[in-house]
Formats: sequence, structure tokens, C-alpha cells
Amino acid sequence: MMSSMNKFLSFLKKQFHLKILKKRYYRFGKCLQCGCCCENIYVRHKNEIIQTEEEFEEIKKIDKYSFYQHIDIIGKDEFGLIFTCQRFDKEKRLCKAHKKRPTICSNYPSEEIFMMGACLKEGCGYRFEPIEKFDEVFKKISKKPVKKFEQL
Ligand code: SF4
Ligand code: SF4
Repeated sequence: MMSSMNKFLSFLKKQFHLKILKKRYYRFGKCLQCGCCCENIYVRHKNEIIQTEEEFEEIKKIDKYSFYQHIDIIGKDEFGLIFTCQRFDKEKRLCKAHKKRPTICSNYPSEEIFMMGACLKEGCGYRFEPIEKFDEVFKKISKKPVKKFEQL
């Protein structure tokens, strides 16, 4: 059973994540270095998965962000284009630019990506769990007074 001190620390942690960091999910686990998130990936630009080769070429011209300059299209499915990263060593299943990898890679998997609808790769060592459980959110909502409709 959780002691009072542990309960208090857990409450502080929750408040810090919710109010200061503005997070909705805790990220647990660790990278198992399977390399799956470096190949067969969808890439989002301005919250939308890149759909066409032309769109990608335009993005590369405008946005010099290094991540776009080092990925290649390898396919397309119903969600959008599928990419692989040139800096991924397929045999060793390691990043060849690990120390200089873009922030999007060093932060992966971030809550932001998760909130945008991205799924973790099967077998990924990370998982996300809501900071506030459904029944806690439900309790908060049901405590709010219900507005009465004014008669015209
Ligand atoms: S899919 Fe998950 S476990 Fe595999 S390399 Fe990426 S972050 Fe690490
Ligand atoms: S830069 Fe490295 S970590 Fe990022 S996608 Fe490419 S291979 Fe993976």
C-alpha cells in the first residue's frame, strides 16, 4: 500500500507534469535500440502526414531542417508517404549520426507526436499512460455546475 509520503510525492509529480510542463501523459520505459523508428516512417509537416513526392520536394526547398534532407521516400500507403533515414545503418540497426541526430530523434517518442496521433512501433520499449485517470477526469467534470438554459 502507498504510504502518505509516497502519495504526497506522487501528487506533487502529477501537479508538476500537469500544471508546469502542461503534459497529459507520462512516458515510461526505455529505448531498446531496435531501430524500428528510423525506417518505414511517416513524416508529419505542420501536423499533416506528407502525402506526395511533390509536396515533399517543396517542403525540402523551404524548410532546411536537416531531418528532411536526410530521408528518402520508399513507399506510400493509405496514410501517406513512407520514408527511411539515410543515416540509419540497417545491418547494425544503429543511427550513424547518433551524437548529431536531430532533436526530433533525440526526443522520440515525445508526447507531442503521440498526441498528434502517431503510434509507437510494435515492440518499442516506451509506453504512454494518462497522468489523470479517466475516472478522475470524469469526477472533475461531474463536479462542475450544469448551466441552465435561459428561456427566451
Ligand atoms: S522503436 Fe522505440 S525501442 Fe525501437 S529504437 Fe525507436 S524508440 Fe527505441
Ligand atoms: S537521424 Fe538517426 S535517429 Fe534519426 S531517424 Fe535517422 S537514423 Fe534514426
